[in-house]
Amino acid sequence: MKRTIVLCALLALSALAIVVAAQQGGGGQQARVVEAEKLKDNLWVLKGGGGNTAVFVTANGVVVVDAKNPGWGKPILDKIKELTNKPITTLINTHTHGDHVSGNVEFPATVDIIVQENTKTNMQKMIPNSTAQDQTIPAQTIFQQNGGKGLPKRTFKDKMTLLKGPDEVDLYYFGRGHTNGDAWVLFPALRVVHAGDIFSGKNVPLLDANNGGSAALIADSLEKGYNALNKSADTIITGHSTQMTMAELKEYIAFNREFFNDARGAKKAGKSSDDAATAWKIPAKYTGYAPADANRLKNNMKLAYSELDKGSTN
Ligand SMILES: [Zn+2]
Repeated sequence: MKRTIVLCALLALSALAIVVAAQQGGGGQQARVVEAEKLKDNLWVLKGGGGNTAVFVTANGVVVVDAKNPGWGKPILDKIKELTNKPITTLINTHTHGDHVSGNVEFPATVDIIVQENTKTNMQKMIPNSTAQDQTIPAQTIFQQNGGKGLPKRTFKDKMTLLKGPDEVDLYYFGRGHTNGDAWVLFPALRVVHAGDIFSGKNVPLLDANNGGSAALIADSLEKGYNALNKSADTIITGHSTQMTMAELKEYIAFNREFFNDARGAKKAGKSSDDAATAWKIPAKYTGYAPADANRLKNNMKLAYSELDKGSTN
């Protein structure tokens, strides 16, 4: 009897220890699983842990687009080792957000990191996006915590071409939208472009006013992208969703234009931006769109109103 009680107590204790360990492990110890989706013989999309990462294997090395959340750099590197034994030469970040750049610090220091020039400025500050609950500016960015490792080494303004022939990679900036530094990365030989979060998926976009995002300009920037790339690409790697077609990008342009026009109409009618946001619904013709997040809508409507006030077109 006594032995049974002791045994039960021991079992209870060890069960408790397992529960505590699991709770402490939540986040830190959880397995970070990166799934590789093969798009072409030498192009993969790595999913999980933040934004979609593209892996492009060239003759002499690997070009990577986006590096996910903190702690996800190593899982990306491990997954790439399963795909190729070539070294990583280049890392491109589509924009400044933590779920696209934080893994940078885990990449080898030899890797060339390239971003649009406004994104470099944004990465030096890492100001929280305008919809984040916590607007505290970090005392030290993840890059400062790592002695400057992971910050871009090269920037471009409107266009930059890397490598040649089947290995060519073209970086473009078509103007403000999600942020003021949204890079589009085209793999012309494969007719695939990574659009990052300026086209994160079929949803109301996150417009990050704190990092130069624009409700007034996102449709124009998307349309410039469509016009420039329509003849060169068939497939779009989105920031967070499945791949999309150019026709779906065209629809997304109309969706964003419609939102801004509706904002203009509501403002003219004298509605407050919060009332306009609460009343706004995704038009039924946009099928397959995620339900609009109430806070994101309020943020976007507020931004649209303030840009309309300023007569902002730039
Ligand atoms: Zn983003």
